[in-house]
Amino acid sequence: MTDATEADLTGGTPRPRPEGEVEKIGDRKLKPATMMMGHGYDPMLSEGALKPPIFLTSTFVFPNAAAGKRHFEGVTGKRPGGAEGLVYSRFNGPNQEILEDRLAVWEEAEDALAFSSGMSAIATLFLSMVKPGDTIVHSGPLYAATETLISRILGRFGVQWLDFPAGATREEIDTVLSKAASGNVALIYLESPANPTNALVDVEAVAASRDAIFTGDNKPPIAIDNTFLGPLWAQPLRQGADIVVYSLTKYAGGHSDLVAGGVLGTKAHINTIRLMRNTIGTICDPNTAWMLLRSLETLELRMSRAGENAAKVCEFLASHPKVEKVGYLGFLERGEDKRQADIYRRHCTGAGSTFSLYLKGGEKEAFAFLDALKIAKLAVSLGGTETLASHPAGMTHLSVAEERKQALGITDNLVRISIGVEDADDLIADFENALKAV
Ligand SMILES: *Cc1c(COP(=O)(O)O)cnc(C)c1O
Repeated sequence: MTDATEADLTGGTPRPRPEGEVEKIGDRKLKPATMMMGHGYDPMLSEGALKPPIFLTSTFVFPNAAAGKRHFEGVTGKRPGGAEGLVYSRFNGPNQEILEDRLAVWEEAEDALAFSSGMSAIATLFLSMVKPGDTIVHSGPLYAATETLISRILGRFGVQWLDFPAGATREEIDTVLSKAASGNVALIYLESPANPTNALVDVEAVAASRDAIFTGDNKPPIAIDNTFLGPLWAQPLRQGADIVVYSLTKYAGGHSDLVAGGVLGTKAHINTIRLMRNTIGTICDPNTAWMLLRSLETLELRMSRAGENAAKVCEFLASHPKVEKVGYLGFLERGEDKRQADIYRRHCTGAGSTFSLYLKGGEKEAFAFLDALKIAKLAVSLGGTETLASHPAGMTHLSVAEERKQALGITDNLVRISIGVEDADDLIADFENALKAV
């Protein structure tokens, strides 16, 4: 088989689940942390290997010609039900399918797809949903590369966009969606919490607004980038999102040793996105998928510990005389912003481990602090086992216009911190020591 173009035309569906899959004991539905050890994998199909081997193959052998034809009847939609097995590694492979099954478990999504990076997941989602003249309505700010993708790349193909601030009220969301509704809105795209403002998006309000303004076939799906809090601390499908996007590079991968992405959602949406992934080949490779399977086994352990560490570190930092403010979701309940606190209560089960630290002073003080850290590493990214610290104004957001930086609170005294799974008191000692250098 040299040409798989026909298979590109429809998504196909994943192979049937392995025999004897345990999802329940009596009436008890198993928790994701338990399912991560075995879900979607049958050792007896791999010589009894407890762990899935890494399937390094570009294509899959059909048992006979009729079976091959049957595959393609499924893949091309001649027969309903999709492909019944694996065909070609640009479409899928065993490691990726097990990963997809397990990713879906965390948010009780109908289906999931694995990608070569968070950005390839987002790009594939956009390409599968929009056409020239369509509008993407999005919350702002977004991850910088996502903003570039919408405005500078999709913009070249005639796609338009409108945005509302991440913390917008129902009325503000209504205003923007109503304005957009004069054209064809292909997608509502959210990111919560926004980086580095930490503003939470009211997904319930966005869904209610969408349902009030659009009807029937005109209703655009709501997709949300859940990289910062998911899947442990936020599950936006429950608040009315249709599609969830991940950079699995962050908490899900969790060891700062891989780059990957994921998309979760309803079968219908996932089939549309799969079609695009099959066509352009943005799937993750088997080795990365295998590493992610290992990561998911400890996801709850790692994220819980990082979350507990962050709570302790933020308590310490908030009361330090050289600190102006700590932008940490766990402090919303005691702050003045009742709306954000309300969204937090309705949408989040934890405050995460990535936050904004505003030191008293400016760049000089921030750099002195960063340069004095001994445990925390000076690097961008987040969600790894190790604590990372960076300076958004001088690094990730260096090219952002001065006015917009001010509007987003990206000031020279801002340090972004992602707390890892080290000993919390060691981390506090590191920050206390570094603050002495300020
Ligand atoms: C890192 C990140 C991305 C991009 O993911 P990659 O895996 O680097 O491609 C997208 N969204 C958010 C919120 C991120 O933090």
